[in-house]
Amino acid sequence: MLPAVHRLLDEPRIARFVVLLGSVTVKEQIGAALARARRAPAVPDPGAVADEVVVALAHEAREMFSGVLNGTGILLHTNLGRAPLAAEAIDAIAAAAAGASNLEYDLTSGRRGSRHDRLRSALRAATGAEDALVVNNCAAAVLLMLDTFARAPDGSAREVIVARNELIEIGGGFRLPDVLARSGAQLVEVGTVNKLRLDDYARALGPRTALLLRVHRSNHRIEGFVAGVGPRDLVALGRRAGVPVVEDLGSGALTDLQAYGLPPERTVQEAVAEGFDLVAFSGDKLLGGPQAGIVAGRTAAIARLRANPLLRALRVGSATLAALGATLALHRDATARARIPFYAMLGAPLETLCARAAALTERLRALELDVVAHDAYAGGGTLPLVAIPSIALAWRTARGGATAGAERLRAGTPPVIAQVAEQTVLIDLRTIAPHDDEALGAALGAAG
Ligand SMILES: *Cc1c(COP(=O)(O)O)cnc(C)c1O
Repeated sequence: MLPAVHRLLDEPRIARFVVLLGSVTVKEQIGAALARARRAPAVPDPGAVADEVVVALAHEAREMFSGVLNGTGILLHTNLGRAPLAAEAIDAIAAAAAGASNLEYDLTSGRRGSRHDRLRSALRAATGAEDALVVNNCAAAVLLMLDTFARAPDGSAREVIVARNELIEIGGGFRLPDVLARSGAQLVEVGTVNKLRLDDYARALGPRTALLLRVHRSNHRIEGFVAGVGPRDLVALGRRAGVPVVEDLGSGALTDLQAYGLPPERTVQEAVAEGFDLVAFSGDKLLGGPQAGIVAGRTAAIARLRANPLLRALRVGSATLAALGATLALHRDATARARIPFYAMLGAPLETLCARAAALTERLRALELDVVAHDAYAGGGTLPLVAIPSIALAWRTARGGATAGAERLRAGTPPVIAQVAEQTVLIDLRTIAPHDDEALGAALGAAG
């Protein structure tokens, strides 16, 4: 006999989809599976019907937004949502989402205010800049800067001078020359791929120059017979010519990464102190906060960005502002910063990762997992060549090989994203929070 609908609904492995997909969808899938079973020549056993429902629901759930475990060892994995948020930032989002706020309301005057004032003082304190502004992501920040300065009052294109070796593509379709073209700016490339001199910029300056733009190289490095231009020299050149000098910093470190065993990375504060009119950086890279783009800089330059009507289309909501504010507060000292997941991942000692790996191999003895050394990376287009020593679980699954093993992990609950190398599934523990070890163990056990 076929199982009743409510029986199937009560099965825990089916019931857990109600939260994610809603009861209507779950009932629909149950109905569809029962209809197929009725048409079948032989009556399937109840377990097989439930299996079918679970497969259909799992398929549907995979198309939806869902949490995963990042076992790749890439700390800021753009495909996996970049920086996980600190508990403080998550609490701030919950509080902002639960009720009304002063998002665009001035509590002193009782009149309409600006959302762009909300994090102004926190950003000024964090960056040392005179003023700052938050938009949707760093790509939006760059677009806003270009659109604001590179359009002449009559609408004609003005020129933006950029070093040839800084015309980067970051991934996800962000190619600097295309963004420049989109903003209506005319690109003037200077220097060669390996050599760039201040004189290259000086000779390109002209009456139609709108901006000198410096771009962080992010995901590549040029080595060998090279020459570059120091940021201070570029700023001084712009000052003399009366042309604003702006920088797309991308990753946006607020602290010296050498304290975390990484190579030095110019900080936002340094770029601001060097005198750039505007500096743009991401909220969800080295800052470890929500997706956002921050522009910090001089009062007059920020005022021009604020006056651009395009800003309305690039603005962020209260959840972003709340999470960003809470994350900035955690950058006040090293102890607080360690509460930001990116810095917790970065700072996790190898012994701790080894102990977690040992506990998991012990618990999952049937899978015969090995504990191996692995290279983790910062990701997010930052520090692409710097391996961070890490520890991975190595799973040599007999059932269908490593690719099939990784596939079963992706299909599990929660989905686990692993790497496959040399017929082995590798799960890096640096990018999985210790409080997720329990869930990881269960997912691995189910996939085994
Ligand atoms: C990552 C990056 C961006 C894009 O930042 P998003 O916040 O992802 O939009 C822009 N410029 C540089 C140099 C970057 O590294």
